Amino acid sequence: MSFKYLNYEVWMATGSQHLYGPAVLQQVQANSQEIAATLTVASAMPLTIVYKKTLTTEQEIFQLIQEANCADRCVGLLVWMHTFSPAKMWIKGLRILQKPLLHFHTQFNSHIPWADINMDYMNLNQSAHGGREFGFICSRMGIKRKVVVGHWKDEQVQLKIGRWCRVACAWQDSQEMKVARFGDNMREVAVTEGNKVSAQIQFGYSVNGFGMGDLVENVEAVSDTEVTDLIQVYESAYILAESLLSNGKNRGALHEAARIEIALRHFLTNRRCTAFTDTFENLHGLSQLPGLAVQRLMADGYGFGAEGDWKTAALVRTMKVMADGLPGGNSFMEDYTYHFDDQGGSVLGAHMLEICPSIAAHQPSCEIHPLGIGGKADPVRLVFTGRTGPALNASLIDLGDRFKLLLNPVDAIQPPAQMPNLPVARVMWRPRPTLEIAAEEWIKNGGAHHTCYSENLSVEMMQDFADMAGVECVVIGRKEDARY
Ligand code: MN
Repeated sequence: MSFKYLNYEVWMATGSQHLYGPAVLQQVQANSQEIAATLTVASAMPLTIVYKKTLTTEQEIFQLIQEANCADRCVGLLVWMHTFSPAKMWIKGLRILQKPLLHFHTQFNSHIPWADINMDYMNLNQSAHGGREFGFICSRMGIKRKVVVGHWKDEQVQLKIGRWCRVACAWQDSQEMKVARFGDNMREVAVTEGNKVSAQIQFGYSVNGFGMGDLVENVEAVSDTEVTDLIQVYESAYILAESLLSNGKNRGALHEAARIEIALRHFLTNRRCTAFTDTFENLHGLSQLPGLAVQRLMADGYGFGAEGDWKTAALVRTMKVMADGLPGGNSFMEDYTYHFDDQGGSVLGAHMLEICPSIAAHQPSCEIHPLGIGGKADPVRLVFTGRTGPALNASLIDLGDRFKLLLNPVDAIQPPAQMPNLPVARVMWRPRPTLEIAAEEWIKNGGAHHTCYSENLSVEMMQDFADMAGVECVVIGRKEDARY
């Protein structure tokens, strides 16, 4: 994946008016072009900021917003009120706005030129009140938008804009996302259920089920050459367990895992699906639960949710798009087991198989072990421990009348001891502020056991995403946020 490859753009427009004469408007245009060009080449920027126009009339504003709504490559609008831009002329356009909006509250000059400042300077550098006029009309109309304040050359400001652009890309991706479900939900489980029609209306993505037999047909069609080639990839990327080596007793299972991976890739590519679910209760025709295949597809940017969890599958995909190209990873995750200690408590996160190697602290080993449930052949999987450092867990739930996004920042730690008998990928973290507070709040809020675990996305990015989607967002993590 790469945003630049996808040609995504954010369009920049500058608000002004004719009151100050053509010379000021020419200056506004030149300054705006310079800002757009500087932002585009900033290292924090994942895409091109395309300067479109200085907007001075209601009709110009309406036309640009109409164009932005219909342009697939435009993932959002960045507006700057260079000079005072009377905001009644923005109403008609804002009423039809369908793309994410960022109000960049900046000023071309960073410092006041004390000796030279006169009224011409004041008229040219009046975002301070122009931005307030625009902010008012957005609030008056209930327009969701991000407000970024600061000088355009400031790297921290550029970083904020860059992160918002990443979220806007993920939002655009969500509008086109197709989630494939192999089998339905794990029987009797509640939190992984939800209203797929509501989700499509809210988030844009569509969720559709496929019979296992369709995937099995793809498995049977995989050629031996494809399998041999993929096995070579496994051999170079992972430390293979002895029984999976070329003369090992489980080599056949590795071939089978490769066959499943190739079939899954074909299946998803042919249907333009970028996220998927499966469930161990519905694997008719597959010899083993896909483990290695799911892990490797996630590492390539696919969303995944186990046990039919399509909401988490879509969320994992969305977060992977946001994080494209950043160091660190994002993975499907489950709060698995607790370690109550005197340092605030910690959680061992894992799943039966499906943790993404993008969060691995070391080269994964490729192993085969019995699964214990599902009644299938032993599945091949990657085993590793996650990196240490700050991270966050995100969970999206369907409460019947609304969706809610829960966030909990955590600190991943080195597990205090080896776990030689644990045959799955795992990561250990301390929830903020403590396990007791975080888990209590999480449970009271109805947060799921499945999450997307992220090493490289901030709470602010996830909040921006919730704003774009128009869903409630709850952050758990600071003592002062807890209801005590
Ligand atoms: Mn699970």
